[in-house]
Amino acid sequence: MLDGKSLALKLRGNIKEEVEAIKAIGNRVPHLAAILVGEDGASKTYVNSKERDCEYVGFESSVHRLSADTSEESLLNLIEAINKDENIDGLIVQLPVPKHINATKVTEAIDPEIDVDGFHTISVGKLTKNEDTFISATPFGVIMMLEEYGIETRGKHCVIIGRSNIVGRPMSILMSQGGRDATVTVCHRYTENVGNFTRTADIVIVAVGIPDFLKVEMVKPGAVIVDVGITRVDSDNAKRYVLKGDVDFEKVKEKCSAITPVPGGVGPMTRYGLLFNTLKSYKKKQGL
Ligand code: NAD
Repeated sequence: MLDGKSLALKLRGNIKEEVEAIKAIGNRVPHLAAILVGEDGASKTYVNSKERDCEYVGFESSVHRLSADTSEESLLNLIEAINKDENIDGLIVQLPVPKHINATKVTEAIDPEIDVDGFHTISVGKLTKNEDTFISATPFGVIMMLEEYGIETRGKHCVIIGRSNIVGRPMSILMSQGGRDATVTVCHRYTENVGNFTRTADIVIVAVGIPDFLKVEMVKPGAVIVDVGITRVDSDNAKRYVLKGDVDFEKVKEKCSAITPVPGGVGPMTRYGLLFNTLKSYKKKQGL
């Protein structure tokens, strides 16, 4: 089991210790700012958990909760004001934003120096060229997990299902880059017979958002399976939903050599990724 929850707890502990050392010498602590526009339930949950994570490690955090009818102009003005604030190390705008706001304009308005989500074109360009940058939190979390668990990637066939800008695409770039050296195949909604590709994969990274998409017959014995998917499925429990990954976990876990659960796999590592990037930005600003 690739236990992202325990691993993220350990790694967050390291950040917490660093922050305690920063405080001990009287310096200001790292500060993450978040903007949430509207009332989307999942987005609210994500922002709340990011706020709690900051509190846990000792970062300062500020959350700007804006109403759904906020104009694009006032959102851009707020981003501009935060960009200019020397004491803020990271800024994220929780996506999706309401339809009347252009999401690309928003991500491009964030100063790349504090773009801890790594969505800005400059951040993505640097990632592509293997230059130092903020790697977006989910791909970063997956890479960290593979590294920490000592999963060999060199020369392995890695199949990535999904090609989104926030998961599949950066994941494919990172896995093929020097240092990881995997041979990468990217599958997407127009790929015919995804199973033909996954059955030859040593590592499968699934990010499609379709519960149980990856079936046991699509998996090579002994493969490593990373399940990025999170879908809320209606349930009669207290929360009224359960979280489902993209992998038919119960069956696939018997056939593979390693697998991430949902929840408790990639999710906590993603949250760690954001803290890591905020600390990285802080250190750069402080000349550390
Ligand atoms: P997206 O909707 O932007 O992209 C989905 C991708 O899946 C697309 O590239 C599409 O081509 C591909 N796809 C759709 N149907 C397919 C099919 N039948 N066969 C092959 N490919 C298909 O989604 P996203 O933002 O990349 O997120 C994917 C999933 O990961 C979602 O469930 C999301 O909630 C989850 N997610 C989890 C985390 C985390 O921290 N664990 C972070 C980001 C996203």
